[in-house]
Amino acid sequence: MNEVNETEGPYDYDLIVIGGGSGGLAASKEAAKYGKKVLVLDYVTPTPLGTTWGLGGTCVNVGCIPKKLMHQAALLHQSLQDARQFGWTFEEQVHHDWAKMKEAIHNYIGSLNWGYRVALRDNDVTYVNAYGEFVGPHKIKATNKKGKETFYTAKTFIVATGERPRYLGVPGDKEHCITSDDLFSLPYCPGKTLVVGASYVALECAGFLAGLGLDVTVMVRSILLRGFDQQMANQIGDHMESHGVKLIRQFVPSKIEQIEPGAPGKLKVTAQSASSSETIEEEYNTVLLAVGRDACTKNIGLEKLGVKVNEKSGKIPVNEVEQTNVPYIYAIGDILDGKLQLTPVAIQAGRLLARRLYGGSAVKCDYVNVPTTVFTPLEYGACGYSEERALETYGKENVEVYHGYFWPLEWTIPSRDNNQCYAKVICNKQDHNRVIGFHVLSPNAGEITQGFAAAIKCGMTKEQLDSTIGIHPVCAEIFTTLSITKQSGGNVQQSAC
Ligand code: FAD
Ligand code: NAP
Repeated sequence: MNEVNETEGPYDYDLIVIGGGSGGLAASKEAAKYGKKVLVLDYVTPTPLGTTWGLGGTCVNVGCIPKKLMHQAALLHQSLQDARQFGWTFEEQVHHDWAKMKEAIHNYIGSLNWGYRVALRDNDVTYVNAYGEFVGPHKIKATNKKGKETFYTAKTFIVATGERPRYLGVPGDKEHCITSDDLFSLPYCPGKTLVVGASYVALECAGFLAGLGLDVTVMVRSILLRGFDQQMANQIGDHMESHGVKLIRQFVPSKIEQIEPGAPGKLKVTAQSASSSETIEEEYNTVLLAVGRDACTKNIGLEKLGVKVNEKSGKIPVNEVEQTNVPYIYAIGDILDGKLQLTPVAIQAGRLLARRLYGGSAVKCDYVNVPTTVFTPLEYGACGYSEERALETYGKENVEVYHGYFWPLEWTIPSRDNNQCYAKVICNKQDHNRVIGFHVLSPNAGEITQGFAAAIKCGMTKEQLDSTIGIHPVCAEIFTTLSITKQSGGNVQQSAC
């Protein structure tokens, strides 16, 4: 192979981006705005069941977008029930049509896939639907669906290959289980479902499946939502249980067998206790594995160029400008070691990287105080420190926690879920009672959290929060009147307005 070094060239492209997901598309379009010649490679390796999808990456095709839309379908079910209390009557039996929902969501996703292609074309970015792999310095091989290989060179590379769902490694998992990569395009209703895992993907999927009226069980290996504020995580679990989701705690599947083929068929799951020799068996129509995701950093030739990869996590360490240890190779998005795996983070990092590379900017991506929302039936929004991490970092004596339950006005008439919505702010007493943690369990928690995240970025203190006048009657107004501290042990159960 002819080795090309950086000063030689000429290269085919100024920039090649491997991966056309949230991060890769943002970086490539931004780079092209500065007149750079840019190529994006995107290729979806089919799941073990053969599921595949179009341009745009995880978020659009098998993540945020179909997830939020199915969450909405489930919320509408609840609204239908509430509607009766507000005077609506229905003549007919309420029924949900999975295939119709799936088709509507897929038509929308199809329009987004098309929109991304057009946006690349309009920005003069070359898009090739092929799998990228480094074969030498500044050089990659692109292999398309038909196996045709083409070679391209570039001065700079951005790796944005994202992650794919992990399997359990137990008998029957790849043959009989699905993952989130299959769920959103499943042509039939999954029926009685076991969800394995207890983080974002598991709880969100379990939540909307139950909301659509299915019999849903979640198998939890240890705790709910590791890394999140555990008081909030447990309240989410309690709420889900009170709405019919079964939780099997401290068990992991050891074998999945097919009892009956079909759409859906019937599966027998054997599970092993995490703490004893006890085993349990149960039949389900569908087993959804949501046990984490592996970074797509293998089989892309990183080792040929000496790009460092964290051996344990498979993730790529980068410096504060998203540069790997090989100076002309950058990485963004879910494959980064120690960073958050969220769409807006990948987009922000990609855009800012392109501006720094080609626009003379020095602005770096700020990974601190990134807000997030878990779209469980009762949504959970968070920004900043969890209570446990705040206490660990600043010490009990330096942290004040203000909290309270509230009852959304819309839920009063249907007499729904009194004292389940909850607000908590965590303040650093040593720094003017600055808000360092924000947590809310509420309808539309994402909408609430977004605005407060901006305030936290501006350094909001508890005093400023208290001096903010609320909007009545909305859920978020609770944050302007939080007066009871956890330490005081005061009663935080909600009372009427
Ligand atoms: P991706 O979007 O995964 O894009 C990577 C692309 O590269 C893919 O198209 C992949 O096929 C392609 N690729 C991989 N290897 C190669 C190769 N060698 N050559 C060519 N192409 C390649 N985040 C949120 O912010 N909000 C949410 O509500 C949310 N919900 C989620 C729900 C689910 C079920 C999941 C799984 C994730 C969710 N996320 C959510 C996370 C979000 O989807 C990711 O953080 C985001 O997509 C990461 O963007 P990325 O560019 O790093 O990777
Ligand atoms: P994750 O956060 O890595 O969680 C994996 C879950 O699977 C944990 O509950 C873990 O339990 C469990 N698990 C792992 N191995 C297991 C095994 N062998 N048997 C049983 N359980 C096992 O993964 P994720 O939920 O897939 O989410 C990945 C990332 O996607 C998230 O970090 C998030 O950034 C992003 N995402 C975001 C959103 C959103 O913004 N709303 C939604 C979905 C995903 P332990 O705790 O015991 O390890």
